Amino acid sequence: MYSYVSLLKINQKMKKIIILAIMISISSAFSFAAKTKQAKDGSEIAIDYLNKSVSVYDKLQKSIWREAELGFIETNSSNLLQKQLKENGFTIESGVAGMPTAFVATYGSGCPVIGILAEYDALPGLSQDTVPFVKPLVIGGSGHGCGHNVFGVGSSAGAIAIKQWLEQTKHVGTIKVFGTPAEEGGGGKVYLVREGAFKGVDVVLDWHPAGGNGVSTDTGTAIQMIDYSFYGKAAHAAGSPDKGRSALDGVESLDYMVNMLREHVPSSSRIHYVIPNGGDAPNVVPAYARVSYYIRSPKREILKNLVTWINQAAEGAALGTQTKVKEEIVSGFYEKLYNKTLAEVLQKKLETVGGVVYNDREKAFAEEIIKTYNEKDTILANAQKVKALGVEKVSQGGGSSDVGDVSWNVPTVSFGTAAFVPGSAGHSWQNVAAAGSTIGTKGLINAAKVFSLTAIELYTNLNLVKLATQEFDKRRGPDFKYESLLGNRAPALDYRVKK
Ligand SMILES: [Zn+2]
Repeated sequence: MYSYVSLLKINQKMKKIIILAIMISISSAFSFAAKTKQAKDGSEIAIDYLNKSVSVYDKLQKSIWREAELGFIETNSSNLLQKQLKENGFTIESGVAGMPTAFVATYGSGCPVIGILAEYDALPGLSQDTVPFVKPLVIGGSGHGCGHNVFGVGSSAGAIAIKQWLEQTKHVGTIKVFGTPAEEGGGGKVYLVREGAFKGVDVVLDWHPAGGNGVSTDTGTAIQMIDYSFYGKAAHAAGSPDKGRSALDGVESLDYMVNMLREHVPSSSRIHYVIPNGGDAPNVVPAYARVSYYIRSPKREILKNLVTWINQAAEGAALGTQTKVKEEIVSGFYEKLYNKTLAEVLQKKLETVGGVVYNDREKAFAEEIIKTYNEKDTILANAQKVKALGVEKVSQGGGSSDVGDVSWNVPTVSFGTAAFVPGSAGHSWQNVAAAGSTIGTKGLINAAKVFSLTAIELYTNLNLVKLATQEFDKRRGPDFKYESLLGNRAPALDYRVKK
């Protein structure tokens, strides 16, 4: 070893040689660390691409997070994803199935055809900065409380990594990204399914930002979203109430009857409503009032019976208040169809990728977020763990997703990665804060890696695709015929802006 003093005494030529040697050793150490171990299937191509592209996708997810656009008007968010995919060699079809913000991006040719779902709509009223305390960026503004900013970006990053692999290995296969707008109530995927956009797709891979890492085995609930509009007659509420007929009375009568019937429906059913229009002033008998209902059940056959009953209650409410009622199906989704074959493949890949590891700054942020929960038993380390694969679970209530309709048309598997702080509630300000930070980015990069490894496994092991399809056919049954819960309605493009 040269001491500092002796190094100073070395002539210029010698100095240059030593500096060069140090530089070579540093650069080779870095490339050793950055390069993934070569795998037999060449999957390191996809993983290396994602490791090198973290800053690109961090920037992209934060741009969409800032846009926080609502369902069917998520124009800039959709454009940002399409631009990224187009620049990476995908062919884009936009404005699909009557939805200006829907798109299908395709790369490659031949079978199997693998589809990845991407969402990018935000939620109203959830504006929030990336800080661990309540601080809206815009009072009453929208925010990514469901983390769809990282959802769309993780899906696109995964597809581009898969494209790198298809291109470099010259493997046969097609990768498609389905840009599916308005998941939060608009049901973009249902229109895509109805228009046949998923025809010819062999397998669909789906993810969602979560508080942990695991494959979804829960089949969720089927849902029907219905607006009941009541029409009465306006009159001075004190001067000539006898000349008026209150549309709000119609709404309240319906709500009252539903609150009675709730006791007599299967306990896993869920019925909830809000009144977006209840009149304008107490001294005017409301001529118009509207109530929005979400009706859910783990089985769509039971859901259909519930909807019939509530429709009858609406007719009764109109009759009893001498008003008129009009029903509008805003949206409707199937419950999910599970696929064990695909769940097992995906579980292995999720275990290979592992959980999300926080740096000191992210850990401090997450600890502050956890202090804002009511529960005291939240385990931060769960972000790093991958849950063991559970058994298929029929929901007892719970949420719904338009992924349901996709899953009854193509074998589908869903998983989550820790893009939120463990333990946080869905649709919360805490989720908006985490999803817009590097925690969200780490979650989406992990998701993109899981997509890559799963797709590569399916491209190179065609028997798995066959088994998944056989299982799908068996679960669906020979007599299954898809009929969307939307009827023939066109996409409710104004559902977020309707007054
Ligand atoms: Zn969501």
